[in-house]
Amino acid sequence: MLHETSDCTGWSVCGREKRGARRRGRRTPLVCWAMPPTTRTAHAPRTTIRIGAHVSSSGGAEHAADRAHALGCDTLQIFSASPRTWRATPPSPQTCSELRRRRAEFDLHPLVVHANYLINLAGREGELLQRSRQGLRGEIERAVALGAEYLVLHPGSTMGEDRATALERWEEGVRVAFRGLERSELTLLVENTAGGGDRLGGTFVEVAELLDRLKGLPVAACIDTCHCWVAGYDVRSASGFEATMTELDATIGLARVPVLHANDAKAARGSHLDRHEHIGEGQLGRECFRLFLNDPRMAGKAFILETPVDEPGDAERNLKALRGLVTPRPPARRAKRV
Ligand SMILES: [Zn+2]
Ligand SMILES: [Zn+2]
Repeated sequence: MLHETSDCTGWSVCGREKRGARRRGRRTPLVCWAMPPTTRTAHAPRTTIRIGAHVSSSGGAEHAADRAHALGCDTLQIFSASPRTWRATPPSPQTCSELRRRRAEFDLHPLVVHANYLINLAGREGELLQRSRQGLRGEIERAVALGAEYLVLHPGSTMGEDRATALERWEEGVRVAFRGLERSELTLLVENTAGGGDRLGGTFVEVAELLDRLKGLPVAACIDTCHCWVAGYDVRSASGFEATMTELDATIGLARVPVLHANDAKAARGSHLDRHEHIGEGQLGRECFRLFLNDPRMAGKAFILETPVDEPGDAERNLKALRGLVTPRPPARRAKRV
């Protein structure tokens, strides 16, 4: 079956938009980059959400799969190298094959890699920009080697420079980093940020603008619940949640959001302070996550925790808290035989 998800709104490279072309007899492969790569062209829609966490890959990324499985995850996020230094070594072939094997065994899908926090593709010319470009290239290469479906990138900061120039530089940086790897099965996810100051990506409009600059590249978005709140979106009240969803769909498009970061927020709405909190213990509260997790528009998406680990057992507790908020669906009624 070709790509026919109900939430696909049709964007630049999405199958829906190309249906016309198909009808006209052109055999263009139908591709939606926001879809898991294995299902991009022959895709049965996933109807349930996946829940997981960011886990340590110390000792080798294959051990991250064990940790995620032990926690009870069905999706996971990792760093492929230290997130706060430029040093990185490629994963060994054994790590890559073993990670694939364990993910298949434990049904861990998708695998999301979070890029280094130092990368800033929008900053002014100089050593940081050069390192950022090389850094993103390394992130892409490692994520591809590990068989990851997604690589999450923070958009960075203009560092006080002219915004238009910064955006051009950002686009160039991503294009350079992807050169020759555009056809790999990896999608780059631009994450919404806490916003404020020179930070890019604080609004859905801005994330959409960044994505739209990258036509032809495999890009989509990752939405962080904490970042939404501190950037100013009221995702806590039912009406605010609905308004946020409407805006998200009208700008980025829900079909372009395969992954969400599920984090409660320590700071106030609109504060631009990025401080994650345990699920249900922050400003967002449990009801906010109930709204996200049970919204039919979220079907097929992966929710990944990036909550603090203050004490042993925190990851399990947060995962349990999220799962506990998912309302089980009643079994589908069988059609009456006549
Ligand atoms: Zn996040
Ligand atoms: Zn954050």
